[in-house]
Amino acid sequence: MDSSWQTFVTECESCQRCELAATRQHVVVWRGHVPSHLMLIGEGPGAEEDRQGKPFVGRSGQLLDILFTAFGLAENNYHIGNIIKCRPPGNRNPLEEEVQACRPLLERQIQFVKPQVIILLGGVAYKAFTGDQTPISRVRGKFFEQDGYYVMPTFHPAYVLRDNRQRKKLWADIGIARRRLEELGLLEPLSFV
Ligand code: SF4
Repeated sequence: MDSSWQTFVTECESCQRCELAATRQHVVVWRGHVPSHLMLIGEGPGAEEDRQGKPFVGRSGQLLDILFTAFGLAENNYHIGNIIKCRPPGNRNPLEEEVQACRPLLERQIQFVKPQVIILLGGVAYKAFTGDQTPISRVRGKFFEQDGYYVMPTFHPAYVLRDNRQRKKLWADIGIARRRLEELGLLEPLSFV
């Protein structure tokens, strides 16, 4: 692994830029691969992520992993991070000042990962990343370009776990992202034999 990436992760792990440093167990930076054509960005760590120090390892992560398997995405095909890297107490939404404090770290992470396609998981991640207040239900499944990346918001897996009727939409959106990677020549089409 690139030593400059390791240096970055180590720097994140000692970050004190916002008050969440006082209550976290771990700084949660990433899982998957560096670099990666596909990057997924969630809102922030939950209890299990804080305990293990990795993003999306609880029930939401298990659902994501099922989707990755279904769409033929191996661990070296994606990189997962979050808008903020430390768990807000009680799983509350991140505060604006926490998002702003963590933003430079996320921007550097994206520069290391070099994704062509970014999936934003959930309304909080969408608003924090774009500044747009449009409800996630109106923007999900549609690509737009930002800073040279193809960006697509979709529902957060935790929301889908609470409302099973939305499962098909998350499923469809991951398929849309996969097709974009195929169109860009970055992934072979799935073959069903
Ligand atoms: S949330 Fe981000 S800015 Fe705040 S302490 Fe953690 S790593 Fe630093």
